Amino acid sequence: MPTVVITGAAGFLGSHLCDRFLNDGYRVIGMDNLITGSPDNIEHLLGTPEFRFVNQDVTEFIYVSEPVDVVLHFASPASPPDYLKHPIKTLKVGALGTHKTLGLAKAKGAKFLLASTSEVYGDPQVHPQREDYWGHVNPTGPRGVYDEAKRYAEALTMAYNRAHGVDTRIIRIFNTYGPRMRLNDGRVVPNFIYQLLTGNPISIYGDGEQTRSFCYVADLVEAIVRVVNQDEIDPFNLGNPVEISMLELAQTMAKMAGTECQFVYKDLPVDDPKRRQPDISRAKEVLGWVPGVSLEEGMRETFAYFKDRMPVTP
Ligand code: UDP
Repeated sequence: MPTVVITGAAGFLGSHLCDRFLNDGYRVIGMDNLITGSPDNIEHLLGTPEFRFVNQDVTEFIYVSEPVDVVLHFASPASPPDYLKHPIKTLKVGALGTHKTLGLAKAKGAKFLLASTSEVYGDPQVHPQREDYWGHVNPTGPRGVYDEAKRYAEALTMAYNRAHGVDTRIIRIFNTYGPRMRLNDGRVVPNFIYQLLTGNPISIYGDGEQTRSFCYVADLVEAIVRVVNQDEIDPFNLGNPVEISMLELAQTMAKMAGTECQFVYKDLPVDDPKRRQPDISRAKEVLGWVPGVSLEEGMRETFAYFKDRMPVTP
């Protein structure tokens, strides 16, 4: 039975990956220090013999006694309010955490996958973003702590591949949503859902004309498995290329919730990217992957998940 170490295992993506790899016949060692992750996300796995949870800060030395076949490094605050609240921890997990997890992969002869981000492109001047675009990041702005940590993590991953021969993969994840996001994580999807379920006006930052492209978590997980199981080491953009403005997103979601759409306009966060859309030609060609879940279908699942956890009925 192969063994996978998943960092950020109690987070949104990490916990879905634990489920998927257990299902695919792996033994899973899940690590998290629970700064932004939640034990609720992995509670259902705690009785599973093939699953072990380790409360570990991955910026510290990681000791695993048994053989490891794959390391998936997903630990990091990932929502802008979270990484603004934990700027130094965000830099450390991207830098030191990537160093420690690469060290673990090297010691075990394991395959390593880095969860990088569309934020490496910053506020992009090229649209849509292809993997060969080098980005437009403000290193000293408030988002720099995440963007630069992930850029450094990519550089370190490539260095371990070139200098130590570690078998590495890099994925750049664009906006993803679905069950197990934190209702208060501050990202646009949980914010809008919470506001719609509680009858509050929807908070639009700036003029709401900025765009994002939203991928449902099940599609992303499938792509990640395919990246692990192929040989190319250069980065892959993973996301859904359907681009939508925040105003359109709010209208679509209000319609789904069956409520009137009322807006409250708030300041645009500093360095908030104006447009974001992945070019996924490389993933299509190499992985044979395209996202299959529409925004409506994915949102239905996501609304249902949050509704179950709300004390308030809409
Ligand atoms: N946003 C918004 N209202 C909210 C939360 C976010 O209009 O309540 C906007 C935000 O300014 C950004 C987009 O939605 O342009 C996506 O924000 P999110 O925090 O989800 O992640 P980002 O893509 O910026 O990393």
